[in-house]
Amino acid sequence: MKILIVEDEKPLAESVKALLEKQGFEAECVYDGLSGLEYARSGGYDLLILDVMLPGLDGRAVAERVRAGRCGTPILMLTALSGVDDRVAGLDAGADYYLAKPFDSRELLACVNALLRRQGGQVDELALGNTALELGSCTLVCGEKTVQLSAKEFEVMRFLLSAKNGISSKEAILAKVWGHDSNAVENHVEVYVGFLRKKLASIGSNLRIEAVRRLGYRLEAEE
Ligand code: CA
Repeated sequence: MKILIVEDEKPLAESVKALLEKQGFEAECVYDGLSGLEYARSGGYDLLILDVMLPGLDGRAVAERVRAGRCGTPILMLTALSGVDDRVAGLDAGADYYLAKPFDSRELLACVNALLRRQGGQVDELALGNTALELGSCTLVCGEKTVQLSAKEFEVMRFLLSAKNGISSKEAILAKVWGHDSNAVENHVEVYVGFLRKKLASIGSNLRIEAVRRLGYRLEAEE
């Protein structure tokens, strides 16, 4: 689970990051609204934690633009403003929950866990066609047959399955699985899709990872 923190108070951003990492989440910080929007749009995050008062572009504008791009990533807004009007404005902009500063770390973790659960972060498996991906064991299952996936294969497969029948861009897969800072290139995605195709075939899966020219990949279950 990967979380983006958009907060211009660096000590607060860093302490939230440390808190989340201690709980086993991956977390990244950016310190202004425009960077927040750019990172959020990469589609690689399971949750956005967004401050309202930000330099560049405020948190509400970031939330609005993220939502306008049809990105369904849950948004937790953090703010020193705690009036009802402010909360309503934040929720109208597309935030899923509003937490007033100062907050208790347990309160923050409870919100994060609730939003991720709602997002389906706690499900045991993702299934399509005759095939399931077991999240606990990183295994693909088709009837009686199973095949173990490597960590990266698992992340790529999970990303494709989360998109259901939608298209996943190579760029989004790269950001999600390898992260912004790595030296990985789109070719890595192609290589891992190749591995996954072989493993799907090896268990008799009816799932096909179709390449959609210039756009990315889409999973299709053959009849
Ligand atoms: Ca701020």
